[in-house]
Order: sequence, then structure tokens, then C-alpha cells
Amino acid sequence: MQIPIRTAPDMPGTTRYPHLFSPLDLGVARLRNRVLMGSMHTGLEEAPDGFVRMAAFFAERARGGVGMIITGGISPNAEGGSGAKLSTPEEAAGHRIVTDAVRAADPEVKICMQILHAGPLAGTPACVAPTAVKSRIGRFAPNELDEAGIEKQIADFGNCARLAREAGYHGVELIGSAGYLISTFLVRKTNLRTDRWGGEWENRMRFAIEVVKRVRAAIGPDAILIFRVPAMDMLDGGLAWEEVVSLAKAIEATGANVISTHFCWHEAPVPTIATMVPRAAFAGVTGRLRRELNVPVITSNRINMPDVAEAVLARGDADLVSMARPMLADAELVLKAAQGREDEINTCIACNQACLDHTFGGRLQVSCLVNPRACNETLLRYEPTRASKRVAVVGAGPAGLAFATVAAERGHRVTLFDAADEIGGQFNLAKRIPGKEEFTETLRYFRRRLEVTGVDVRLRTRVDADALAAGGFDEVVVATGIEPRRPDIPGIDHPMVAGYIDVITGRRVPGRRVAIVGAGGIGFDVAELVSHDGPSAALDRDLFAREWGIDFENHPRGGVTGVVPRVAAAERTVWLLQRKTDPVGKALGRTTGWTHRITLSRRGVKMVNGVEYVRIDDAGLHARVNGEPVLFDADTVIVCAGQLPLRALHDALRARGVDARLVGGAFEAAELDAKRAIDQASRMAAEV
Ligand code: FAD
Ligand code: NAP
Ligand code: SF4
Repeated sequence: MQIPIRTAPDMPGTTRYPHLFSPLDLGVARLRNRVLMGSMHTGLEEAPDGFVRMAAFFAERARGGVGMIITGGISPNAEGGSGAKLSTPEEAAGHRIVTDAVRAADPEVKICMQILHAGPLAGTPACVAPTAVKSRIGRFAPNELDEAGIEKQIADFGNCARLAREAGYHGVELIGSAGYLISTFLVRKTNLRTDRWGGEWENRMRFAIEVVKRVRAAIGPDAILIFRVPAMDMLDGGLAWEEVVSLAKAIEATGANVISTHFCWHEAPVPTIATMVPRAAFAGVTGRLRRELNVPVITSNRINMPDVAEAVLARGDADLVSMARPMLADAELVLKAAQGREDEINTCIACNQACLDHTFGGRLQVSCLVNPRACNETLLRYEPTRASKRVAVVGAGPAGLAFATVAAERGHRVTLFDAADEIGGQFNLAKRIPGKEEFTETLRYFRRRLEVTGVDVRLRTRVDADALAAGGFDEVVVATGIEPRRPDIPGIDHPMVAGYIDVITGRRVPGRRVAIVGAGGIGFDVAELVSHDGPSAALDRDLFAREWGIDFENHPRGGVTGVVPRVAAAERTVWLLQRKTDPVGKALGRTTGWTHRITLSRRGVKMVNGVEYVRIDDAGLHARVNGEPVLFDADTVIVCAGQLPLRALHDALRARGVDARLVGGAFEAAELDAKRAIDQASRMAAEV
């Protein structure tokens, strides 16, 4: 079914978000609204059945209301990346499946292909760059391009763009930022050339301009050409504001229809999209650039809900808002906003756990923590059931919520029990950690989803095996979660020892000298909580800027001050301890772990590995570190030593002959996170 999304009385959201739902004329094309699905590498680009799966992925988003879609990055040649490329007519054939599917889903939606030449970040020894400067995060030192090599790269961009048009794309996006090839010509740090491609600014931007010229010539005047400029590259010695403006103006004059602002250089030590980044933090910079240009301008980064997007557009900060990860989390975000159903939006919480952590962790496939169907549209389907069952789900944590709502959506009659007085399980702890405020959105989503799917929710109800056995249920699902592990350390019952639940909920206020036993995800979160003072930087753009050395107002080179920022810390000594000899925090998320390590060390938290716990007594926590006796003279010891599955109910049911399903932490607590809990529960509920 095609649902036209334009201002209409039966679409209350279109009047609530007037800027978001106003069409935009690009000259060469008309967009029905201001929402762009930003480019994301999903791994489908390289999957054997990737084009069919990509077609389904994008078609769902087209039906879900976006104005324009940008595909994941495709390399113009073999040296530009180790993944998908488009340089031959044979390679173009698969793309047709994608463009046809999007047109069939909704002919109003535009789809452009991103051409991404990764330059020194391409995972191939054949990678190239203006100068043989190895990126800190690149796998290989790049080969320096000579004049003929530069001409080949430019020609390959043109060829790729022409093939993209022939494959049915409405146009292309060029990425001139993030540390990829085009941007490495722009920045002195990566361009040490002394010929006409390096040195003075006019020379350093020559490559970008020549690529745009060649691409425009290849796609013709009627196609869309978008160029991503590094509006703030976050590099010490990066682009000056005048250079950003000069580049954008030159690209505009050379033939781009749209300028997109990007706030990223992959190796820069400043978070730009993690959940600790305030919503729409960078949009003001786009606004400043927009005032210098005539073509429409796109902004991005941490814009995850329609009201945030509307405010950005209403302020005049952008003409279009790019939402990438939010489109993984909810394919129907725009449609729900248009229909006034924004409380039903499954919001991207910016955790990166199932998307960017997979991409940068070298795992092929991307998905979404809150929506495991993302990129699995053809494989994970919530089909209506032919035999509606009475299902009891015990535990309303992420696993129980996912199971209950998917099963009910499919037509089962579900009763959801929880002993607590609110749904959410451990997410009610997570949302209290400064920088994790977005987790409240997932709870709001599930609360509404339970209503929409008609789940019978029974809170403050601790169920036992007798009640369930007598309840006449066809299926019983045990999602009772975990219990914290209490390690066997002499003195563990000392009054100075506290559990993390008591500390996070505020039932126990830690003293001035805190030792945290266990440095996993929860240990880090507790360290964040107890070392923190004042408001959360995730809710305060100025504070966030100060904590990460960003200067939004004066925009020094790269947008960063270049001095190590000072962060406000609680007046507390904090030790974060683990037994392993690995670096502390090594197992944290690939794309976010470093932000937590940097934050805690700037606050003075002492991270100690190789700890052997000896005993706890009035003097504190006695230990041996690398064989040497050490006293952590703490007044509070907080235990964050992992979790064990809570299966008492399951065992009791079994004893009564009731064959219940186990899911989430109750199934397996080791290395359990919400990604696995929601994924496992959704898949199980899709088949019940
Ligand atoms: P739980 O969330 O533990 O839910 C179990 C529910 O069952 C509870 O609500 C409980 O009240 C109920 N229950 C138990 N027994 C009964 C009974 N007999 N009758 C009725 N109800 C019962 N994961 C991530 O992926 N990313 C993060 O950033 C992240 N941050 C976290 C931060 C903190 C501080 C904490 C504590 C956890 C965090 N996690 C995170 C882990 C994540 O929250 C868990 O993996 C997830 O909640 C497990 O889901 P679950 O449904 O299996 O169990
Ligand atoms: P965890 O990540 O497994 O960490 C447990 C910690 O306790 C480890 O540091 C471990 O290190 C230590 N430990 C284990 N057994 C111990 C023992 N017997 N005595 C002393 N120390 C012991 O578990 P968690 O921190 O409880 O987190 C639970 C789950 O929630 C995890 O799977 C995690 O992924 C998830 N989570 C994720 C995030 C996130 O930001 N992504 C945040 C919070 C939680 P040593 O064995 O080396 O001492
Ligand atoms: Fe957003 Fe996390 Fe889903 Fe990625 S995995 S799209 S960051 S909610």
C-alpha cells in the first residue's frame, strides 16, 4: 500500500511538523519532505544475496515515508575499498534490483548511491592517498598517487557515477570527509605534496573540484549530486572555517545540487554520534554554512526524533535532516510522525552496538539493538499466526518486552507479568547513568507497543510455578533476567560492601573513596555515575563541548581547541578494578569504549588490572596487584562482578512438568546484553 505523505488533514503530524513535511525543490528533483535516510554501510553490499536484501531494506524505508535515501558507500574501483565496488556494467546489474524496488515501493522517493573511495582507510594493500601517510586506524600504508594515478581516480569516480545513473539511481553522493580519499587531499596532515595537488589551499581542494566536475559530466545535468563537506573534521590542525566555506562554495559552483555537512574524521578522538553526544549538537554549524550558500544544505548527527528535526529546520539550520541509524531503529519513523503516532517510534538510542560496532569490528552484517529486523527484512518476518495461543511471559525486561510485543503483534493473546512496578527490567538502571538518557525512549516505545498490540500487563505481580500451571496458558516464557554475582571474597558481607543496584537506584550513597570490583559494562557505568558531578553532558551542548575540547563559536581549525579538556569530576577517589591483565575496558563497544575510557581517566578514575582480591575489612579492600600487596583504602566497595541467570521459576515449572521457554538473561547471563536479549526474544516470538 502506498501512503502519500504530504500535508493532509488526516495526517496530524504534517501540521505539527510543518517544516519537516514541506516539499523541497532541488531543481532537478522534488523531495516530498525534508527527511533524508543517511548513508550507512550495512554489510549487505557484500552479502551473496545482498541486492535482494538491500532492496527489501530500502523499500521498507521508502514505504515508511522518507523523502530521499542514500545507499551505503560503494567504491569506484578496487583500490578504493575492500568491499563493494561499481566499476563495470556487470556490477551495475544488481543495483537495478534496489532502485526498482524503491520505485515500486513509492515512486515519489528518490534514491542516490554514495560513492565512497576510502583512500588510506581502504582495507587493501593497493590503497592510495595523496601522500603515503598511514592512518592510525588504517590497515595499510597507502601508495602515493602520481599524476597519472590521480587522473585514474578522477576518471573512476566519473565512470562509477555514470554506471550508478544507468542502474536507476536519481543521483550520487560524494563523501569528501571522514578521512576518506577526497578529504585526505584537503588536510595538510595527510597531504604533504608540493605539486598542483598539494600545498596552498587552492591546490588542496583541486582534487575535490575535479571529481565533482567529472561526476557532473558523467551523470548529466538532470541528476542529483550531493557532496559531503567536512564541516568540522575534529582534527588538531584540520580545516579552518574559511576553508570549509570556500570548499562548499567551490563545490556548489562546480555543480553540486546539495551540500551535506559531516562532522567526523574516523581517527579523531572526539565522539560525534555516540549516545553521550547531545541531540542535534552540530546542527548550528550547518546553519552557519547554510547562510553562505544558495543550494540546500543537509545536517546530521544525533537527530533521532521528529521534534528534534523540526526544531533544526525551524531554526533555519538546514534544509534537510539526515537520519541514518534512526532508520535502522524504525523504518516507519516518518510515517508515524506524519500520522501523529510519534509515541510509537522505536527511537535510535545511539548505542552503536548492533550497527557501527559491527561495521568497525569487521563483522559483516549490521542490524539494530532495538530492531533486530533491520537488514534482516527478508529473513525475520513477524507473520500473523494461524493458531492464536494464550501466552504467559514472565519478566518485562528487554527480552520479555520484545517477546510479548512480537507475539501479540502476530495475533497471540499475551499476558506479561513483572514483579516490579514498572516495565523495563535492567533498562531502568541503565537510564539512570549519565549519558544513557536515551534508554528512556526504548521504555516509552515498549510501553506504547504493549498498548497497541493489546498485551495484558500485570505489574507488581511476582508469579510462581503454581499460578502459571493453573493459568491455562498454551505457552510459558520465562524472561526473569539475572541476579548479580556475589564473589567469594573474604569480608564480602562487610557493611562497606554495596551492590550496584542499590548504588544506581540511590538506595545507597557511596562514600568518598570507592573501589569498584569488576570493570565490565556495569562497572564502567557505575564508575561514570560515582565519578560524575552536576548535569549530564549528553543534555547540555556547551558542557559537552567543554568536555571534549570543541569550540562551536570560534571554530578553530578542525573545530577543536587542541588542548586536553578538563572535566568536572565528583570529589571522590575511584578505583575501577579487574582480575584480568588485559587493558581495562578492552571488551567495551568497539566505537564507544574509547570515549568511556577517556572520560573516566580525565576524571581521575584509577583503572587497575591484574587484581587479586584478598579480603575486605575496616581498612578497605586488600588485594595483590601483579603479586604485590596493595590496600585500596576505600570506605565503599561496589560489586559489579557480572551476573548469573535467574532460573528458579523455570526450574520450578520444570519440576511440575511445564515445558517453559527461557529467554534473555534467564537463558544465559554470560556476556548478555540487550542486543542479544531483544534479538533472541524477537526471533523466538516470530516462530511461536
Ligand atoms: P532483565 O532486564 O533483568 O529483566 C528481568 C525482569 O524479570 C525484571 O523486570 C524482573 O523484575 C522480572 N522478574 C524476575 N523474576 C520474576 C518473577 N518471578 N515474576 C515476575 N517478574 C520477575 N545492555 C546493553 O546492551 N547496552 C547497555 O548499554 C547496557 N547498559 C546497562 C547498564 C546497566 C546499569 C545495567 C544494569 C544493564 C545494562 N545493560 C546494557 C544490560 C541489559 O540491560 C540487560 O542485558 C537486559 O536488561 C537483559 O534483559 P532481560 O529481559 O533478560 O532481563
Ligand atoms: P561483564 O561485562 O561480564 O563484567 C563482569 C566483570 O566482573 C568483569 O570485569 C570481570 O572481570 C569481573 N568478574 C567476573 N567474575 C568475577 C568474580 N568472581 N570476582 C570478581 N570479579 C569478577 O558483566 P556486567 O558488567 O555485569 O554487565 C552485564 C552485561 O550487561 C554485560 O554483558 C554487558 O555487555 C552489558 N552491559 C553493556 C553495557 C554497554 O555499554 N554496552 C553497559 C552495561 C552493561 P575479571 O574477571 O577480569 O575480574
Ligand atoms: Fe541506533 Fe543502537 Fe540501533 Fe545502532 S544499534 S541503530 S545506535 S539503536
